[in-house]
Amino acid sequence: MAKKINYDLIMDNQIENIKADFLDRKPALLLHTCCAPCCSSVIEILKDVFDITLYFYNPNITEKIEYLKRYNELSCYIKQRNYTIKIINGLYSPEKDFFPNVKGLENTKEGGERCFICYNLRLEETGRLANSMGFDYFSTVLSISPLKNSQVINELGENLEKKYKVKFLHGDFKKKNRFLESIKISKEFNLYRQNFCGCCFSKS
Ligand code: SF4
Repeated sequence: MAKKINYDLIMDNQIENIKADFLDRKPALLLHTCCAPCCSSVIEILKDVFDITLYFYNPNITEKIEYLKRYNELSCYIKQRNYTIKIINGLYSPEKDFFPNVKGLENTKEGGERCFICYNLRLEETGRLANSMGFDYFSTVLSISPLKNSQVINELGENLEKKYKVKFLHGDFKKKNRFLESIKISKEFNLYRQNFCGCCFSKS
């Protein structure tokens, strides 16, 4: 079995280099997010280094009512914290962008092949937009969840960095108790924390 790479350490090193390279401005980061709780503790560690724009692109949230609930919660949370962070709401079409991509994998276990395709779908769109809008970096908060495979997320990010010619900020955001921190922040701000990942197949 391949040795696991410590992507949290890689991110720390990347940030040190970024601080040395960007002396007169913060680099612009397009950060994919899936909901308010997942980005809460990630924003806290990145906001002093990057000029963050959040990208809410999640066609995997297959019920529109749930999608809107998560988007609205995110939007309210950013306002509540007085962050100077813009949110881009991506196109929402599960029928076009999610279901055809995971066809045949509906019954696979959460954390397997279906999810890897789902990570890539969202990361690819983030990389594409980062390129077309001239961002310095792109990344995703997905690795905050203990259920998400940070090894796969980072490998996908590296491939997309080459494809879209925008630097990928590595990360394993759950490290250093950041997942617990996100739960703490969610309680403090009374955030809606869903009890399923997003697609109808992840609902028990
Ligand atoms: S369980 Fe979550 S990550 Fe996996 S396919 Fe469904 S929405 Fe995507």
